[in-house]
Amino acid sequence: MTTTAAQELLARTRTRMYVGGEWVDATGGATFDVVNPATGEVLCAVADASPEDGRRALEAASAAQASFAATTPLERHGMLLRAFELLMERQDELALLMTLEMGKPVAEARGEIAYAAEFFRHFAGEALRIDGGYQSSPQGGARFLVTKQPVGPCLLITPWNFPMAMGTRKIGPALAAGCTSVIKPAHQTPLSMLALADVLSEAGVPAGVVNVVPAMRSGEVMEPLIRSGLARKLSFTGSTKVGKVLLEQSAEKVLRTSMELGGNAPFVVFEDADLDEAVAGCLQAKMRNMGEACTAANRIYVHESVIGEFGERLAARMSDLTVGDGTKDGSQVGPLIDDAAQDKVEMLVRDAVDRGADVLTGGRRPDGPGFFYPPTVLTGVSGEARMAAEEIFGPVAALTPFSTEDEAVTAANDTPYGLVAYVFTNDLRRALRVAERIEAGMVGLNQGVVSNPYAPFGGIKESGLGREGGSVGIEEFLETKYIGIAMG
Ligand code: NAP
Repeated sequence: MTTTAAQELLARTRTRMYVGGEWVDATGGATFDVVNPATGEVLCAVADASPEDGRRALEAASAAQASFAATTPLERHGMLLRAFELLMERQDELALLMTLEMGKPVAEARGEIAYAAEFFRHFAGEALRIDGGYQSSPQGGARFLVTKQPVGPCLLITPWNFPMAMGTRKIGPALAAGCTSVIKPAHQTPLSMLALADVLSEAGVPAGVVNVVPAMRSGEVMEPLIRSGLARKLSFTGSTKVGKVLLEQSAEKVLRTSMELGGNAPFVVFEDADLDEAVAGCLQAKMRNMGEACTAANRIYVHESVIGEFGERLAARMSDLTVGDGTKDGSQVGPLIDDAAQDKVEMLVRDAVDRGADVLTGGRRPDGPGFFYPPTVLTGVSGEARMAAEEIFGPVAALTPFSTEDEAVTAANDTPYGLVAYVFTNDLRRALRVAERIEAGMVGLNQGVVSNPYAPFGGIKESGLGREGGSVGIEEFLETKYIGIAMG
């Protein structure tokens, strides 16, 4: 049942599209339902953009581009800082809204709002540091002037698992650089992004600069925009499968692309690791967001001499977690996003067990309502199990023993993905050696979380292209222009 506080919040939440600075209905008044994954109940209906609505949004972004590019860095800095403050002022209600549509416990949702807001504070600073250069030509007789310009109107597509932070990680640098955008949130979680549009409008972001179009038919709405020639950049966070399709579509007009795609993170525990730290790190790397994170520890390799103890301790911690509706006090593990996610986790666990894995805790899908799955630890998971190759995206820890460093590194790299890896060891030389050999854009050394707005986030191989956050994040939204100047 939805509580009174939740009902009041839903009654005043934004459900229309945000286009050209106006809150508008979709063509024909089309809507789709947003569902609470903890109960299966419909929360509200949201405008369902048509391809024409998408086109109008991109035209609005395109029309606003020149004037927004002409704002001063200090003006954009001010908008971003104000948006940071507003997000933090509304942290509690935005967290509740996120929990209602996505399921994560409210405490975690509050953490995501703070994380999301921090991207605005960070990029407020970056807006002031857009650099350039002036130098003599080495051959003489000329000067080089190098300057940075916004790439132009952007298409930003975000997933459901971090409904706010995946938006601010793109919108922050886009605004800082002077780019306008059209944002399409995932159909499961449009409410957070619509609430963010409200915040940005109040923070003084001009009409047309940020446009939000929720849509059920994401491919039909976005493909014509990608191919239109009006957009200059596509920044996507989501699955590798969809990312590859979008890269092909982007080729037609040679769009700048940033791709934050899927992961299959190895988590390696050496025999010399501090086991308390390794278990705590594993719990974080596995259970953040109920395991529904691209950074989630997917394959946990533990040295054969400590895997027994590690498995017992991890299973004890996992079975202590309280599963329940994320809006309720004390809930530590919310539901999965939908029944398809629940089916997939159930299938992956059954497959691993059929191939010889032992269940240390969990492993049974509960009856409804809601799309819950219990924290689960499997040990002796075969390299042939499907969960070794696919993102589990659920609260299931898959333990596999190894005996040598080489074997661990080879197994860790045996994947087309390369987003993040975690390594636990107290041997400094080994830590650095393994961190260098592991094929990933990010490595957590003796830590289970790497996400930080001030650090460059992104993957290699099929986990993506480009980086978000850090000092490089804004570069994705800037073009470098060189002006050659004849002298004398
Ligand atoms: P998804 O199915 O790829 O969807 C991501 C977004 O793309 C959603 O907004 C979705 O909209 C949209 N979309 C789907 N098909 C599309 C198409 N043909 N054209 C245009 N847009 C399309 O991924 P997801 O299930 O939402 O998210 C989970 C995935 O995201 C996982 O693989 C996870 O690892 C990855 N992820 C990566 C990062 C990272 O930073 N590397 C961060 C978070 C998540 P609809 O769903 O509404 O159709």
